[in-house]
Amino acid sequence: MKATTNMPRFAADRVPEYVLLNAAPFFTCRECGKVYWYGSHIKSIDAQLKIILGEIAAHWKTSEKD
Ligand SMILES: [Zn+2]
Repeated sequence: MKATTNMPRFAADRVPEYVLLNAAPFFTCRECGKVYWYGSHIKSIDAQLKIILGEIAAHWKTSEKD
């Protein structure tokens, strides 16, 4: 694809276009040069973690009172 000014040059030829347009920032592995990004899989893990951590925090709050 054609590179634009706000697109990381290193990622332009290694990442699908929809990812380039929606998923900055990108990270490059120093060992193998693979490009990684904060994709939907990580976002859903993030959301799950927030729920779990919220439940743990709520549990500790209630158990302090016991
Ligand atoms: Zn690697």
